[in-house]
Formats: sequence, structure tokens, C-alpha cells
Amino acid sequence: MATNATMVFDLPPLPTYTLSPRPPLVDGIPDNILALIVPIVAYWSVSMLFHLIDVYDLFSQYRLHTPAELLTRNRVSRWDVVKDVVLQHVIQTLAGLTLAYFDDQEYIGREEYDVAVWARRIRFVQRGMPYLLAVFGLDASGMAANLSQNGHKLLAGVIAGGHYPGITQSIISETGIESVAPAFTSWELSLASFIYWYFIPALQFFWGICVVDTWQYFLHRAMHLNRWLYVKFHSRHHRLYVPYAFGALYNHPVEGFLLDTLGAGIAFLTSGMTHRQSVWFFAFSTIKTVDDHCGYAFPWDPLQHVTSNNAAYHDIHHQSWGIKTNFSQPFFIIWDRLFDTQWKGEVKLRYERSRDNAQKQVDEGAEMDSNVDTDTAPEQHSQDAAIVSPEETTDRIARTRLRKKTANLSPSVDSLKSVNHGVASSVL
Ligand SMILES: [Zn+2]
Ligand SMILES: [Zn+2]
Repeated sequence: MATNATMVFDLPPLPTYTLSPRPPLVDGIPDNILALIVPIVAYWSVSMLFHLIDVYDLFSQYRLHTPAELLTRNRVSRWDVVKDVVLQHVIQTLAGLTLAYFDDQEYIGREEYDVAVWARRIRFVQRGMPYLLAVFGLDASGMAANLSQNGHKLLAGVIAGGHYPGITQSIISETGIESVAPAFTSWELSLASFIYWYFIPALQFFWGICVVDTWQYFLHRAMHLNRWLYVKFHSRHHRLYVPYAFGALYNHPVEGFLLDTLGAGIAFLTSGMTHRQSVWFFAFSTIKTVDDHCGYAFPWDPLQHVTSNNAAYHDIHHQSWGIKTNFSQPFFIIWDRLFDTQWKGEVKLRYERSRDNAQKQVDEGAEMDSNVDTDTAPEQHSQDAAIVSPEETTDRIARTRLRKKTANLSPSVDSLKSVNHGVASSVL
């Protein structure tokens, strides 16, 4: 019995625990359902913020494209974009609800136990210290005795292989018998707490990011390499030559499901995140994707500077000349670097050319409109209107509106021509 007791207490014992269901972050909404709601709310909130910046022309000096480009170059109306994004949100919610149906209840209560398990692992690692020192011809027990005599008891314990004779605790067994057992040192418990509360969650988050990036890179690239996949699905996203925030998830529903929903789902399932962690992970991924399509290269937007993958980087992929490059999204550019698919040419002149062409188109449209206005009698004009298709009418109205907007914006639009479009030099 004595031998058994010695074996049990060779290491600090693990605490007991009682489990109870984890209370939801928001009352009445389970965390796994919140993880479906928050990204959608984040998508539209952040998008609307960028939309207001767009409409009120608040930071025109940071625009990647001019309003003239926004009007003339895209091949899809904003309304069609909204419809497809809503459809994608419906699909991802249904997929999430299906997954949530099979979710197990999450519990709390064993945090202290798990921290102690990590502390034990740290203690085990220390066991190797004397052997490691012996490789270098050092005597661990002699060093530990010296350090202990000089008052460095914790360091002596580490050198000795995790032996801390003075650090004990009294244990009362279920039968009421009191005994003395080894205890963890404060540094072991602090390190174990850090690992459990911060390092592992950060690692899970990073793993999720890597899975999303990898999933999206290869699928996205396949959609460009395979003509059928491109024409059938991915070409829809590329109707946006001038991306804007709420166009981030403008995709064919099949592509939206495969690339975004499935990719994020696999990242979550393989990372071991809790549902509460997944709320932040999904929200963060969503906001990053929106930011990558915002159409601005902001110097003060942290999301655009943490990695080289940002709005300017992804914008190149939306241009006809850069479409076969910069497939990486949304976090890092490592896959583009490894597979040499990163855009390396110059961009400044190409962007300027696009701006000039778009402006020319708008100006020509304005000229044509003014000719029609002056040359045509009112009766004739109304007859013309009758045979003009609704799309042409909408287009004409939009051009007239833009003429006014462009006139108001002309100083900033002109200044854009000389302003760097914001593509980070690391992209080149
Ligand atoms: Zn693409
Ligand atoms: Zn895009």
C-alpha cells in the first residue's frame, strides 16, 4: 500500500471536477446558432460602413478605382449582387443548422483539471533535463544542490528534473485520511494556464486560418484552370472588375458553398474550437473577406497590413490582366509564393489606363446624351424612350447621375491619377 501511495504522489495529483452545461454568450441563443448569426450581421454591418464611405466619398484618396470605373466596368447590377449574397447566406445558415443538429452539448467545469494536466506535462518535460545536461557532460544533481544552497530553489528543481521537495500540499481522501502530496510550482501553473487559455486557442485559430487559406487557394485556382468550372461557376464573381465590400460573397451558389461554407466548416471541425471560439473565427474570416473587396487601400486599416493579402492584392486578381494570379485569399499569400502565382508585373500604369478608359466612356456617354438632348424634338425624344430597353434607360439615368457625381468629385478623381493606388510594394 505504501508503495502505491508513493507512486500516486510521485506527481502532483489532478483536481476533481464537476461538469455543467456551458451558458450561452447571449441569453437565449446557443453559441452554435450565434456562430451562424454573427458573421451575417458582421458582413452587412461592415459592408454598409464601406458603402457609406463610398456614397459620401469620404476617403477618395484611398480608392483603388474611380466612380467612373465603378459605373462602367462591372458586369452586374448591385441588386443582383445583393440577391446572390442573400442566397449564399441562406445556404450557409442551412448548412450550419444541419451541422448544429449533430452538435454535442458543450460543458464547463474542467478548466482547472485541464490546466493541471498541462502542468503535469510540463513536469514530465523537466524529467528529461538531467539527461540533456549529461549529454553536455554536466552533473545535474551537483548543479541543483549548488543552486539550492544559493537560494535558487525553483531553478534547482528544474535542473534536478522537476523535483521540488519543499513544495507540497495536503490531500484529504474520500475516506477522510489526510496525506501530504507534491504540488505544482507557481511557474508551472502560470505556464500551464497560458498554454490552456491563450496558446491553444491561438493555435486553433491559426490552424483554422491555414485550412481556409489552403482550401480556398486550391479550389479557387482549380476554378481558373478548368474552363468548365470557370464558365459554369467562378466567372460570376469576376463580373466585378471593380469590387466593392458587399460584393465579397457575390458568387455562384455552388461556388459559395464549396469555397466559403465548406472551407470554413472544415476549418472549424478540424481545429477543435469551441462554438464560442467559432463565433469569432467565422466573424473574423467574414470581415477579412469583406475588407479584401472594399475597394480601398487604407493606411490605417489593420486588416490590410497584418499580412500582404489585402484589398489591393485581391483587386489585382479582379483585373483582366491579373486574373491568372493572386489566387490566395483571404489571409496569407504563402500559396501564391510557393506556386509562383503572385502578380509580379507593374500595376500603376495599368490602373491608370483603366481609369482613363472608364472616364472616356463616361464622357462619351455624356456627349451623346447632350447631343440627343439638343438635336431631338421633345416628341421625338419620348418616342425614342419608348423603344429603349429598361436596361438602357437605367444605364442612361446612371450615367447622368455619375456625370453629376464625377463633376463634383473631379478634383479628387483627377488627383487619383497621380496617387499611388495603394498596392503594397511587397506585392510587386
Ligand atoms: Zn478568381
Ligand atoms: Zn474576389
